[in-house]
Amino acid sequence: MSVQEDDLQRQGIGMTSLRTRERLIQRLCDEGLSDPQVLEVIRRTPRHLFVDEALAHRAYEDTALPIGNNQTISQPYMVGRMTELLLADGPLDKVLEIGTGSGYQTAVLAQLVERVFSVERIQSLQERAKELLAALDLRNVVYRWGDGWEGWNALAPYNGIIVTAGAKEVPHALLDQLAIGGRLVIPVGESDDQQLMLIVREKDGFTYKTLEGVRFVPLLAGSLA
Ligand code: SAH
Repeated sequence: MSVQEDDLQRQGIGMTSLRTRERLIQRLCDEGLSDPQVLEVIRRTPRHLFVDEALAHRAYEDTALPIGNNQTISQPYMVGRMTELLLADGPLDKVLEIGTGSGYQTAVLAQLVERVFSVERIQSLQERAKELLAALDLRNVVYRWGDGWEGWNALAPYNGIIVTAGAKEVPHALLDQLAIGGRLVIPVGESDDQQLMLIVREKDGFTYKTLEGVRFVPLLAGSLA
């Protein structure tokens, strides 16, 4: 039994939840996700541990759920979609994530790339995520409490950057911190009109691709204890 399955049993959720997980994976395939590695990682990541116990029974629905502080854990489809976009050009060694939140997207990434650098503005959320990822033995993640509009310049450049909150415009710092050939996946726009974008840094500039309408909590300025 894997560590995660063992967790499940201990939480008393049992086999029903394993079936529910399979159903989620089937749904994600139906919605167009296709990278077998990404799907496998979503299948084995215990999403119910990333939400409040009272919501654990809904953890394998394809929906965003509240995680406190007015924030949400991203919808599994969106986590898979953004991860596929990030990895579409091959494996990545250094990925910057803006918006640790519950740590669920972080945990998925940590199983697919060499190192994740995750920035979050709400310290208490990030502390909880840190403890949970350590308990799941995901140790290739470094955390920073701060304002994601600034990225994390000291450790730049990154081969991939993922932003899990909606930005009114693409933060300049993130463009600057992208390596040549690097990929930035980010929801951009006003809260009721956000588009998921893929931006790739070329030798002599950037290419921008608009993919689909999305709905994320806003990328706010400044950091909070
Ligand atoms: N990937 C997370 C999504 C959390 S929601 C998950 O699946 O749980 C988006 C997160 O972005 C929130 O935790 C919010 O606090 C954070 N956030 C918003 N603005 C930010 C900023 N400027 N810098 C860093 N994090 C920010």
